[in-house]
Amino acid sequence: MREDRVWHRALGLKGTIIEDVDVDDPELVVFRVRPEKRLTRRCGECRRKSPRYDRGAGRRRWRTVDVGLTRAVLEADAPRVSCRQHGVVVAHVPWARHGAGHTLVFDQTVAWLATQTSKTAATEMLRVSWRTVGAIVARFWADCEKLRDRFAGLRRLGIDEVSYKRGQRYLTVVVDHDTGHLLWAAPGRDSATLQQFFDLLGPDRCAQITHVSADGAPYISTVVKGSCPNAVRCADPFHVVAWATEALDKLRRITFHKAQQQSRRAAVSRMAEGSNPVTAAAEEVDTVKALSGARLALLKNPEDLTENQHAKLQWIALTDPDMHRAYQLKEGLRLIFKLPLEQATDALDNWIELARTSGIGLFVTLSRQITRHRAGILAAIEHHMSNGRVESVNGKIRLITRIAFGFASPQALIALAMLRLGGHRPTLPGRG
Ligand SMILES: [Zn+2]
Repeated sequence: MREDRVWHRALGLKGTIIEDVDVDDPELVVFRVRPEKRLTRRCGECRRKSPRYDRGAGRRRWRTVDVGLTRAVLEADAPRVSCRQHGVVVAHVPWARHGAGHTLVFDQTVAWLATQTSKTAATEMLRVSWRTVGAIVARFWADCEKLRDRFAGLRRLGIDEVSYKRGQRYLTVVVDHDTGHLLWAAPGRDSATLQQFFDLLGPDRCAQITHVSADGAPYISTVVKGSCPNAVRCADPFHVVAWATEALDKLRRITFHKAQQQSRRAAVSRMAEGSNPVTAAAEEVDTVKALSGARLALLKNPEDLTENQHAKLQWIALTDPDMHRAYQLKEGLRLIFKLPLEQATDALDNWIELARTSGIGLFVTLSRQITRHRAGILAAIEHHMSNGRVESVNGKIRLITRIAFGFASPQALIALAMLRLGGHRPTLPGRG
């Protein structure tokens, strides 16, 4: 086998002529290359044959996969051509994406590592920054997106919002309820953002959507109604229960805060009466500790409680009837989603009445919110729109938003999420 054929195979090169291989410095192997004749003088954007314009910025280098232990680059001329449609642009090269500083093989290796391994493994192994990984993943996904029809046979959708940038920004995400794959995501959480998805889907496919579940944000409901008139609109059980959990947690925080203030006041007055300051402080810590430790006991599902947390709940039942009633309301709402439709309908109406008359402000407000979404909640139960898949994708995206924190753009975050959760993970170059 001739030497340059060995290199072609090793570097995954196609349509490329290797002119020369050299070791520039001990740390870098340089492959001097050029495109095969049929691939020269093509527009970098559309690849149409175009007349040469000038030599551009001269020689250029593209980082490629290591040769054994050593970093390697391809080096070639980067002339410009004059395209009828795109004007003066750098000519296409068969080994790299237009405008990229890395080869196709390198990009694909990055995409594979970013979806399979940790940040440290990917950046150390390829000797690139995490920000560069983000840029590569974004352009890799942009190409995959063009090749694939992600929306074939789509029937049931889940729509959700996920925060990123430490809760400062939001993504709207769409999940396939049947496969659990992430279908689409975009920065923003408003009707214009969501409308982009339905525009992309097109009217024919929108008409075939049978069910849409969402968290009950009014703008989502309006857009869905307008775009998918045939779809049953369901409230995501996961979100509905989360409303109750949030109300309960808010109540706990308020009570906790009040108890803290009370116990401080009491401690101060005890000290004024001449009791030992150390004992007084210890008593304060005890009360506050008991309440703060109750958080998990209140918010966890009862089947997951530890013995200690059970005891905590009993303590709450005895000492704080409002909090205990709020807890029972949260649990009651959660259980409604496990009932068959007929029983669930009665139970939900009962629940609304109990919450409305509970005398706990936060739950009175919640009862109104639940009343507004009654139809969507019952539709979710009737059509078995289980929240498991949407919830699990949601959790995984949250994890990815943390991993992607160093990326420069939300597009890179979305690309990483799509590559990891879209159901088509990248393969390694030269395989599969
Ligand atoms: Zn062009």
